[in-house]
Amino acid sequence: MGNGLIDLHVHSFFSCDGDFSPEELIIMARDIGFQAIAIADHDTLSAYPEALEIGRQYGIEIIPSVEVTTVYDGREFHLQLPLVNWESEAIHYIINKMEHSRLEEARNRVARLKELGLKVEWEEVWEQCQGVPPLGVKIAQIVLNKTESRKNPRLKKYFDENGQPLAPYLFYQDFFAEGGLAHVPKKHISLEEVLSLAPETEGVPVLSHPGAYFQKTTREDLARLKKLGLQGLEVFTSYHTTEQTAFYYSLAREFDLVVTAGSDFHGKIKPGVKFGQIREGRYDMVIQLKERKDQ
Ligand SMILES: [Zn+2]
Ligand SMILES: [Zn+2]
Repeated sequence: MGNGLIDLHVHSFFSCDGDFSPEELIIMARDIGFQAIAIADHDTLSAYPEALEIGRQYGIEIIPSVEVTTVYDGREFHLQLPLVNWESEAIHYIINKMEHSRLEEARNRVARLKELGLKVEWEEVWEQCQGVPPLGVKIAQIVLNKTESRKNPRLKKYFDENGQPLAPYLFYQDFFAEGGLAHVPKKHISLEEVLSLAPETEGVPVLSHPGAYFQKTTREDLARLKKLGLQGLEVFTSYHTTEQTAFYYSLAREFDLVVTAGSDFHGKIKPGVKFGQIREGRYDMVIQLKERKDQ
């Protein structure tokens, strides 16, 4: 079977903020020489089961996964469920609950932007999201793509000298992040609840990008999450500095968590993240996750 390169965290266009179809991702994976990838879309399993069949056609193993947006201790934590059974009742319950709270959050965010005097309507945002409740970065991208925004002096800092929008997360940080002008308090499903349901989903719970600026996972957090059923930690990610990678690697060892690797590739919403840029992923990680699932 070999111990080839893998990436356990890529997003397809079903994520709303992703650009590529599962097939396009699989072709990129093949061209780069990956053995396996996990399409871990935000709060949706729309890529499955078709992605598995496309993967077979191109000789790339697809690990079914999903990245659930949760709250823990007032912070946003992202949890992957690699090896998830997309037909399980538990995952459908989680996704329905998520869709409901994400839709409400997105509507409130757009309403706050309007109150701040920005020209944006919920209908136009919704129209551009193919029925998937948009994340903050997607709303930011939609706002910045509008011609009116380019002319708005208050938004000048989000455009380059040629009037092209800069990365939408800059807007996200100023407006939607904690303390931001259009911040809406999180009402997502709790991380504790998703961890307790994880065995029924058949997915193996892996915490995404623990060092991300909105997450800032501490040693104490991991000690508690391990007790609640966490099984893996995404140590190798485009979010981490070398120091963070070393820090979380040692914590994964300490708490007996499977070390995983994922780029969090989306496409143009994260222009700094290239497909295949995380090189530490090895198939052995998938084997370890499968072992945890069988325990
Ligand atoms: Zn994430
Ligand atoms: Zn992600």
